[in-house]
Amino acid sequence: MLRCSTLDYLDEDYECPYCKEKLSCCSTPPFHIGDGLGWGSEYIFVCLNDKCSIFVNSWQQFDEKYGQPASCRYIQVPGEKKGTPMMVGSSQAFTGSIVDPKEIKNKDERYIKEKKATTQLDTCVEKKDIKPILCLILDESANLENRNRACDLIKEVCDFSCIDPIRNHKFLHTEIEQRANMAISAMLKEQFKKECPYCTEIIKAQAKICKHCGKEL
Ligand SMILES: [Zn+2]
Ligand SMILES: [Zn+2]
Repeated sequence: MLRCSTLDYLDEDYECPYCKEKLSCCSTPPFHIGDGLGWGSEYIFVCLNDKCSIFVNSWQQFDEKYGQPASCRYIQVPGEKKGTPMMVGSSQAFTGSIVDPKEIKNKDERYIKEKKATTQLDTCVEKKDIKPILCLILDESANLENRNRACDLIKEVCDFSCIDPIRNHKFLHTEIEQRANMAISAMLKEQFKKECPYCTEIIKAQAKICKHCGKEL
């Protein structure tokens, strides 16, 4: 069985050969009938069209053969060449596990970015790289501990380009917002700078008149 290490297969459209309808993306059920190796994929594609011929016709076949209510849905496991009919006990099977492939891909991409940025935090000071710091501070879904750690590294990396994105970001966690803003203030102070309260440009800490907007301070 082909194992899918990336979620690229979620970009693809799969079609039911019986009814030509687009298959629905579902998270895989916890059980697996067959080789016992598992599904090899977190998600599978299922024809959930109740008018699909294989679904409509199989009720009678199962009833005649086994005397129990069951039917078949056409399923396609990503990475496998061909799909296969799979037994279902009711028309509701799989309908509770429908997922939106786009949403999953977005979440997955966000998670990969977060993981990468978290690793890069270890070397961002020596590399003077503000990017992983910003990535984590501005990612509301990222791990809070790592976001705090990113805030604490602002002063050490000392790159003023992080100021505007942070000041303009809508934070959901006020404690991260405060920590980031305090870190910016500490960074400016250490460099003998400040933000002009009128135009927010960065100016010398001892300036009496802002060189950008001309206002007296
Ligand atoms: Zn179908
Ligand atoms: Zn100013």
